[in-house]
Amino acid sequence: MEKIILDGRIVAQEVKDSLVNRVEVLKSRGKVPCLATILVGDNPSSETYVRMKQNACETIGIKSIRIHLPEETNTQDLIRRIHELNNDDTIHGILLQHPVPSHIDERLAFEAIDIKKDVDGVTSAGYGQTAFGFGSYPSCTPSAILRILKYYQLSIEGKHVVVVGRSPILGKPVSALLLNEDATVTTCHSKTRKLPDILKQADIVVAAVGKPEFIQGQWLKDGAVVLDAGYNKGNIGDIDYESCYEVASAITPVPGGVGPVTIATLLKHTVDAAERL
Ligand code: NAP
Repeated sequence: MEKIILDGRIVAQEVKDSLVNRVEVLKSRGKVPCLATILVGDNPSSETYVRMKQNACETIGIKSIRIHLPEETNTQDLIRRIHELNNDDTIHGILLQHPVPSHIDERLAFEAIDIKKDVDGVTSAGYGQTAFGFGSYPSCTPSAILRILKYYQLSIEGKHVVVVGRSPILGKPVSALLLNEDATVTTCHSKTRKLPDILKQADIVVAAVGKPEFIQGQWLKDGAVVLDAGYNKGNIGDIDYESCYEVASAITPVPGGVGPVTIATLLKHTVDAAERL
């Protein structure tokens, strides 16, 4: 069986290449696309993710502003900062790095982001639009998963997709996006019974569990397409790569799969927003 490694770096590069000229045009009109990132507290993984996103902005000429708030920031202070960014015409996209410290109401903070600047697709309005099929900025990782499938011309229509995970920024929106592409979608979660039996029926598997090497190759159907959104300590995904590689017809590696396309999608959304605002 021919096996395809779904190389996210190639897909991400294509997205970034398509943005360079658009950024130049914006700049020639006196508008520098700008992403504001907000990091609360000192979670080292979050710091790394924010740095990666800022570095990626730089590579194509997007300006990024980093707002680093102390751990003890409360919900109201955070929301006040978000409102300032909403009202700042020089900012086109706002990214609040998840997770925020547990004493903050993260949902309330996400909801404070103006939908016109919600380039990470975290507001409930953005999610609703995604589910209805007309949103401007679907959540970045779900968009990245779709982009990879399309880049490699892997058909979605009529396929049984099993998504493992139902978080508001990943499992739920990717289920919605795939449903809109005419897949038959099963969304699984921690209370799902007989997960391996369900996965055995999947033509396409999306792993969004947050548990390193959780999904096993012997749970999968021969020839399944496997997209691993997981990103755990030590560059480990949510699938057991070795055993899944054996049975899959196409598979994303970690690192170098969904992650780079997620970041490229964030850049694209920021440029889209700068053009629209
Ligand atoms: P999350 O909020 O922790 O959600 C995890 C989901 O997995 C939940 O819906 C949970 O079910 C489900 N789950 C947990 N244990 C399970 C089990 N034993 N069987 C079936 N389902 C189970 O995580 P997330 O933010 O969606 O992130 C998921 C993964 O993607 C993580 O590895 C994260 O690092 C990664 N991620 C990657 C990117 C990227 O750019 N590549 C971006 C974001 C996230 P319940 O709802 O019942 O609790």
